Amino acid sequence: MPSPLDRLAALDRGFRTRYLDHEALTAQVRAWSEAFPDLCRLRSLGETLEGRPLWHLTIGPDPDRIRPAVWVDGNMHASELAGSSVALGLAEDALRLHLAGDDDGAALHHLGPHLRDRLRQVLVYVMPRMSPDGAECVLKTGRYVRSAPRDRRANRQHARWVTGDIDGDGLALLMRVEDPAGEFVESADVPNMLLPRRLEDPPPYYRLYPEGTIENFDGHQVPEPNFLSDNQTDLNRNFPYSWHHEPEQTGAGAFPGSEPESRAVIEFAHAHPEIFAWLNCHTFGGVFIRPLGEQPDTKMHEEDLAVFREIAAWSEELTGYPMVSGFEEFLYEPDRPLYGDLSEFAFHQRGAIAYVVELWDLFRQIGMKRPKRFVDYYTHMTRADLVNLGKWDREHNRGRGFIPWRPARHPQLGDVEVGGVDPRFGLWNPPEDRLAEVCAGQSAAFLRVAAMAPALSVSRVAREVRGDVTRVALAVDNTGYLPTYILQAARKLEHNEPLSIDARALGGAELLDPAAARLAVGHLDGWGRGLYGSATLILHGQSRGNKSRAVVTYHVRGHGVLELRIGSCRVGWIDHREEV
Ligand SMILES: [Zn+2]
Repeated sequence: MPSPLDRLAALDRGFRTRYLDHEALTAQVRAWSEAFPDLCRLRSLGETLEGRPLWHLTIGPDPDRIRPAVWVDGNMHASELAGSSVALGLAEDALRLHLAGDDDGAALHHLGPHLRDRLRQVLVYVMPRMSPDGAECVLKTGRYVRSAPRDRRANRQHARWVTGDIDGDGLALLMRVEDPAGEFVESADVPNMLLPRRLEDPPPYYRLYPEGTIENFDGHQVPEPNFLSDNQTDLNRNFPYSWHHEPEQTGAGAFPGSEPESRAVIEFAHAHPEIFAWLNCHTFGGVFIRPLGEQPDTKMHEEDLAVFREIAAWSEELTGYPMVSGFEEFLYEPDRPLYGDLSEFAFHQRGAIAYVVELWDLFRQIGMKRPKRFVDYYTHMTRADLVNLGKWDREHNRGRGFIPWRPARHPQLGDVEVGGVDPRFGLWNPPEDRLAEVCAGQSAAFLRVAAMAPALSVSRVAREVRGDVTRVALAVDNTGYLPTYILQAARKLEHNEPLSIDARALGGAELLDPAAARLAVGHLDGWGRGLYGSATLILHGQSRGNKSRAVVTYHVRGHGVLELRIGSCRVGWIDHREEV
């Protein structure tokens, strides 16, 4: 009889060594939910416009019992396929946590038994592929899609590029056309790589276009292939927090939640206030991006900042990637924040410890030094960096990034060359042989965040009988790292309700004070203080009293059972029974 861990290993569809298409990803999540129905629930949160389900896993026993939960999603950007592998890796590791016996679980990311135990109390929500339509299109055609290959705009009376295969190889990559006014030249060092032209560069020069055709072409004027030319919406600009319409925010979509994918995530998030941590996986950069996105760190509550600092320290140690503030290091233009993104929604509107990870540190792979602001990596690649990139592609990526230009006949533009760059594997995403280490690092880091969960318990501290009245004093404790309100920034949110206790006296028992049927407990502190929070000054270290405990007293007349339900929608509920 194979052990549960062996059974789990046998279900692996290879997501740590290759990029799964929709069919293989579906087979993976189905295999888990069918083999371990008590630990893994598979649901679809909705359907895409092309009819694909939006798969969502809940990992943990008794999935409807509300308790602290974490969320991870991947692949909201179509080309950022590695996020799906990382999300699936986390799902599989969460399953291993539950399936491993106490003695054989030790190997899981060096999590000690007390942490594995804590983690088994946390529900794990996993949405491995937020945009299956987009991912499928990228995998099958190579074309550029930001989120999903769709455009429902009504204004179509202008010339515009429509991506598609021209030379019959099934892929839609790039086209170059020789032109004395072209803005690009071919690199002398890296065959096939086009570089922005400089004054000193001798001809030939090239125009660079997407592989495809021009709708409403007048035969002369070639339109600009804009960022989202024939794929209208960027899901990561379509969330309701601080949403701004087009053209103030490119990719905003018609209205917040206008796409079935973002809508499904918003609805789930609103139905699940118990989500306290949220990892949103992207791929390009090798960095974690945390709040605030619109304001400097001085505007963040210092306790929240200390918690993020702690997470940054683990994350950097376990993955090698730094964690930076979106506002401080990730705005292309310092006074223009990005609007409508998912992690800001999850942080501000849902009160979760939410952040982005960019899973592939290509810049570091090619030896670039970290610039002052992380975002400058993206805009400050020199020619020397690009030469290194070409070299890296040949030596570590089988030369898959920069590929030959092949002559083709374009129905509108005449002679063109097609090919040039296929950035899917190795550039936008890690090469397949690096995926496993990326998955492992991210799991190790995020499972530690999940282990910060608040953890309620209740115990009797006193009991006294006088005549037919029993006095029972109960302590409600939070033994978790985080407070029951999670973040100071989240305290004002309506769903961040304080703890309360509903009491019922059953049998021959009766509450002496009817108002005791519902008692407010308030919020309870956790033990965690973040990293370098002011309270942890090593020479002045002291507890903040014992604000993680509240004591309540009941007076019950007669004999029977006192039944209590303690908690909140934020941290879930626990039950307690006292015989009286
Ligand atoms: Zn992205």
